[in-house]
Amino acid sequence: MAGGGADPTEPVDIRYDNARARLEIDWADGATTAYRYEFLRWKCPCAECAGEMGMPGRMQFVDALTPDQFRLSSIEGVGNYAVRPTWADGHDTGLYTLRTLRGLSEAGAIDIAAAAGIDGPRGRP
Ligand SMILES: [Zn+2]
Repeated sequence: MAGGGADPTEPVDIRYDNARARLEIDWADGATTAYRYEFLRWKCPCAECAGEMGMPGRMQFVDALTPDQFRLSSIEGVGNYAVRPTWADGHDTGLYTLRTLRGLSEAGAIDIAAAAGIDGPRGRP
């Protein structure tokens, strides 16, 4: 990459840590960010969860997730710009762009710090 430094939205490595239930990404600019699966499910960007065109999504009407909703079944890359998780409840329409994930870096870190030492679902981040 010439001049201007590394692209902060380009991932170098994406890891799925099922033991700790978190997604970790190493970025081209040297940063590493991490997100709990539960945090990611709350942030599901699909129209059903997040709403669209002024309509509220269903995440606005729930206070807690069921364990199946944030247990990862599988995850696939979409081109080189996004990842698409399949959750244990069968939900698979959330496309998380790498730009979105990078933008959630700070919120994800705060969520991990807040969740440290607490077992089980914790409610809305
Ligand atoms: Zn969704």
